[in-house]
Amino acid sequence: MEEIITYLNKVQIPYETDADIKQHTWIHRGGTAKLWIMPMSCEQITALCRKLYSTGQPFIVVGQTSNIYFKNDYNPDIIISTTKLNHYYINPTTIDCECGTSVKTLSHACIESGYAGFEGLIDLPGTVAAAIVNNSSCYDCSLSSMLNHITLLTEDGEVKKITVYELGFTERSSKLKRKEIKGTILQVQLNIPKCISPSTLKEKAEKIHQNRLIYQEKPANTLGSIFPKNVYNDFENNLSFLTKLIIKAFVLLNVLHIISYQTLTKSKRDIILLLNGKTQLRPYISSKNFNCFIWKDRNADEMFDIYKDFFLKTALQDTTEIEIFT
Ligand SMILES: Cc1cc2nc3c(=O)[nH]c(=O)nc-3n(C[C@H](O)[C@H](O)[C@H](O)COP(=O)(O)OP(=O)(O)OC[C@H]3O[C@@H](n4cnc5c(N)ncnc54)[C@H](O)[C@@H]3O)c2cc1C
Repeated sequence: MEEIITYLNKVQIPYETDADIKQHTWIHRGGTAKLWIMPMSCEQITALCRKLYSTGQPFIVVGQTSNIYFKNDYNPDIIISTTKLNHYYINPTTIDCECGTSVKTLSHACIESGYAGFEGLIDLPGTVAAAIVNNSSCYDCSLSSMLNHITLLTEDGEVKKITVYELGFTERSSKLKRKEIKGTILQVQLNIPKCISPSTLKEKAEKIHQNRLIYQEKPANTLGSIFPKNVYNDFENNLSFLTKLIIKAFVLLNVLHIISYQTLTKSKRDIILLLNGKTQLRPYISSKNFNCFIWKDRNADEMFDIYKDFFLKTALQDTTEIEIFT
């Protein structure tokens, strides 16, 4: 570690030693990192990662950590944050972004310029590189669908262009997420999308924003969907006959406009918890979406383990959409 610190001082890359990860993460969780490093330029992150790869020193690259749950007993050696690498350039035919560019910021700028395809992304937390790793998408919009190529630093220190065709995108995944390709994304190049009237795009974006406020939990203390769609569907399908029957009755009441959608989702949560003896989880599960957990207080970590076990008992696959580091 001393050698790395000497190097960071020499090349003037900002870092914190014995960093309290909680202070840096989206849901304020995590233990202590020996080093939390914040490169300020692509040259700095390239040189730093190349050095770490060459010495075999393990490290994790993170964006805004909006898809990561670092457990409080997770104490890694090195975390590199890309959030200071946030410059982007809108050119005549491409948009060139540093890996830590905020998807929200970029989306607002592109909508202002009349570029279609960003309307659904204005409330997506996170960075452009992670949006490619995770093939993140909202309201039929995704950066992967506009991707030209990424610039990747591979573990053997080479800088390579990887085209959209080589990334093997599947629902909320890519070869990078599946570790079939390993490395650090330095830059993301998007193709310039179709240009239409900015006011039409702004109107569409505002509708999506309002829709999100109604149907999704507020972003603070959550990580969006915890389980992939298929795992969530397994969970619902495997609920007891009685639970499903009562939920169906509430769905019918909603179809008949006797109760609102909000009452339906809240009741659904409460019925599932009550009939399965899990009412202690109630404050931690969104009333809008059973697939969304809220790290609202200190007990949330213990409650999350109960929530996860409850889900995965019925699901056919033991996978979460979020990444958990223990
Ligand atoms: C409130 C809320 C709502 C959400 N809604 C949605 C949604 O509608 N749709 C959706 O798809 N997702 C959603 N998410 C999940 C999350 O926003 C996305 O997965 C996002 O792309 C994560 O970005 P991040 O920068 O926070 O990545 P992080 O969580 O920091 O990292 C995610 C992964 O990317 C890797 N990574 C990050 N940067 C690099 C790099 N430069 N090179 C290599 N690997 C890298 C990390 O190692 C990690 O494996 C939501 C999250 C929240 C909190």
